[in-house]
Amino acid sequence: MYTHIPKLGFGMMRLPMNGAEVDIEQTKKMVDRFIDAGFTYFDTARGYIDGLSERAVKTALTDRYPRDAYLLADKYSWWCVKDGDSKGFFESQLERTGVEYFDFYLIHALDKSSYEKYNAQNAWEFCAELKNQRLVKNFGFSFHDDAEFLDKVLTEHPEVDFVQLQINYLDWESDSVQSALCYQVARRHNKPVTVMEPVKGGALAVLPEDARRMLAAVDANRSPASFAIRFAASPDGIITVLSGMSDEAQAEDNINTMRDFVPLSADETEAVAAVAELLNAIPTVPCTACKYCVENCPAGIAIPNILRGAYNSYLSYNNLPMSKNRYKQALENGNAASACIGCGVCMEVCPQKIQITDLMEKAAKLFE
Ligand code: SF4
Ligand code: SF4
Repeated sequence: MYTHIPKLGFGMMRLPMNGAEVDIEQTKKMVDRFIDAGFTYFDTARGYIDGLSERAVKTALTDRYPRDAYLLADKYSWWCVKDGDSKGFFESQLERTGVEYFDFYLIHALDKSSYEKYNAQNAWEFCAELKNQRLVKNFGFSFHDDAEFLDKVLTEHPEVDFVQLQINYLDWESDSVQSALCYQVARRHNKPVTVMEPVKGGALAVLPEDARRMLAAVDANRSPASFAIRFAASPDGIITVLSGMSDEAQAEDNINTMRDFVPLSADETEAVAAVAELLNAIPTVPCTACKYCVENCPAGIAIPNILRGAYNSYLSYNNLPMSKNRYKQALENGNAASACIGCGVCMEVCPQKIQITDLMEKAAKLFE
């Protein structure tokens, strides 16, 4: 059913920036290159780049291309629906992105706690009705919880057309993300899968030297990111793999990797498994820089910058002066960890279930 869709999708959550604004000229070039190369799937959400992603979709894509040149996915996010006005929220999404329907529409970042919130908002019935009205062509959800819970949701909601899962070679066997187990549950329920975080928020694009050498030994002409994207696209039943591209070079690398997609060979599969083992031995915080926490933090703390830029570098290299430097850089776009008031709002929306308040306390002690 979805075989006509090329297996690379343009995730519009990490677009190139000019200060606080999306670099729209560079985004247009990336969109043009993507479409010229035969790709069609674009993915946005209200929360991406503080609402600017949906607007960039309109300026860079939907104002410039006929409706049949692309497929557009957007999301129903419980925290963006004010006063129970689901219809008003959906209409604002159509207006901001400049379309009359979405090809794919997802209940966003579903886990055990948000399930209650979506049920309370009658989100399932609302999205099914959108599909009845042809305002949404395919209805699914993006998922951030364990395989047992996925089985429960799919049993209770057989009406969904597809599921979006976090799949990358680092999380494939992970006890917390359970990529492989979730994928198997989705397939058992006959649901095709869109993939998010194939490069784990960029972590699999820039590898430590020994990991990079392990991949280069199999194929020195391929980038680390290209191994990660092909890994995610290789299983059966994958509709497309979303890559959050931030500049033209990344877009070019992804396009070259996926234009004539070939699944990973046995040697390549073995190499990425070895890299996963090596990386999993380094205990870092699994922040993917999705920034959902940032939008909701009343103290304006630069949470992902602190976790990824400073705290993870400290865990990986145990070099406090270097990590303190990175901490300083991390605070260029937000407040310090010590500003945390412990409200816990960030953890309600963090799809990776990171204990952010504890880590803010640790980061403040270490770096301030
Ligand atoms: S617990 Fe701290 S970091 Fe999290 S939202 Fe509240 S103030 Fe921000
Ligand atoms: S801490 Fe969680 S919510 Fe915040 S950016 Fe990282 S993964 Fe996203």
